[in-house]
Amino acid sequence: MKTKKALNKISAATVAARPFVYRNRILHCDGVSLATLAEDHGTPLYVYSSSQISQRFQLFQQAFASRPHTVCYAVKANSSLAILRLLARQGAGFDIVSGGELERIRRVHKPALKKVVFSGVGKQAWEIDAALKADILQFNVESEMELDLLAARAQALGIRARFALRVNPDVFAETHPYISTGLSEHKFGIDIKSARAIYRRAAKSKWLEPYGVSVHIGSQIRKVDPFAAALARVTALVAQLRHDGHDIRTIDAGGGLGIDYSDAPFDAAHQVDRYATALTKGLADDRAHLLLEPGRFIVAQAGALLTRVLVVKKNGSKTFVITDAAMNDLIRPALYHAHHEIIPVRQPTGKAANITADIVGPVCESGDFFARDRAIANVKPGDLVALLDAGAYGMTQASNYNSRPRPAEVLVEDTKVTLARRRETIRDLLAPEVL
Ligand SMILES: *Cc1c(COP(=O)(O)O)cnc(C)c1O
Repeated sequence: MKTKKALNKISAATVAARPFVYRNRILHCDGVSLATLAEDHGTPLYVYSSSQISQRFQLFQQAFASRPHTVCYAVKANSSLAILRLLARQGAGFDIVSGGELERIRRVHKPALKKVVFSGVGKQAWEIDAALKADILQFNVESEMELDLLAARAQALGIRARFALRVNPDVFAETHPYISTGLSEHKFGIDIKSARAIYRRAAKSKWLEPYGVSVHIGSQIRKVDPFAAALARVTALVAQLRHDGHDIRTIDAGGGLGIDYSDAPFDAAHQVDRYATALTKGLADDRAHLLLEPGRFIVAQAGALLTRVLVVKKNGSKTFVITDAAMNDLIRPALYHAHHEIIPVRQPTGKAANITADIVGPVCESGDFFARDRAIANVKPGDLVALLDAGAYGMTQASNYNSRPRPAEVLVEDTKVTLARRRETIRDLLAPEVL
């Protein structure tokens, strides 16, 4: 029933930017109160809306319905098994960057292995072996050395490898420097000018099958023109490769479509449509099977990090709100100076004045902040707040810094709550250590 609903045409009007709304002055994720979730599961807690994730996935399916395509969700954005299974059941493929991520796909839905693309600049022999044996769709190869290693492993196992070169189109995408990847100064991909010669050489190996061309210019990209420019260069290369006699089947446009982390209205359906239009322009009339690798756009806004205020303290003129979540749980503000909306679970009444504060965690480091000089509701110790848009690159980048157990994760479906990952214990933390 649920899946049926998600499969119906999604109109802009039915897609809210976020599944987090106030009901009776309490913040809810779909039909579940965040106050209840905190009581039942403790804090810090990652909360995800399953219908929001499905909706976002279906937006891509709809926008590209007129051409052969596979949406290969980028696992590194959020690799929770429960979320991977949700997407696999709707027909998603996956973009992986490690042997660990490959194992996650095997665990949730074996048939999805044949829709896996393997990205990454430093693949190891054991990872390549595992992916060859799993018969994944294609390896996105990022260097000539990797191509040689792939040929050697394919020969050793007697399994022919389908590959795409990840080309670097030298296109500038306006985003944070840490997540921009499409310029020749970056470590990613192979210079598009040398690609043709490399395909020619690779085609001589009977263990390598030239199968596609891939590109990925970065993450959190809000303008769609750079995607069109990059893809136009890739499409021109594909035409040359076909002319050279290679049977190129796939064009992989990568991921990177950005969301709006602010509280401005955001029309996700419209954004995906603009993206599809840009890609279609870049592809001209090429009918290759299109691969897409969205990560953030699918999961970011479906998730929030729920945390409790421990202390409110004043140092001189500054106010600090100290929460039980910290940079080890969500590192994006510290790492990328990323903005996350922070809202109280109990909705303030109209007349309550905001305070201006730094919202920080308890980790012993001044980089441990979620927001600085932010206007926020006048919260008190014990109050709950939610950091919005934390579904992507939140839990996957969490660590045990300061020997802090990582948060639990729950998946909400209407009024049903499923524990997706239990809270780590101190015993979990110490288990691998040797005395
Ligand atoms: C990280 C990554 C993605 C996903 O990027 P998003 O910004 O989350 O959409 C896709 N493809 C590759 C190769 C990546 O490295």
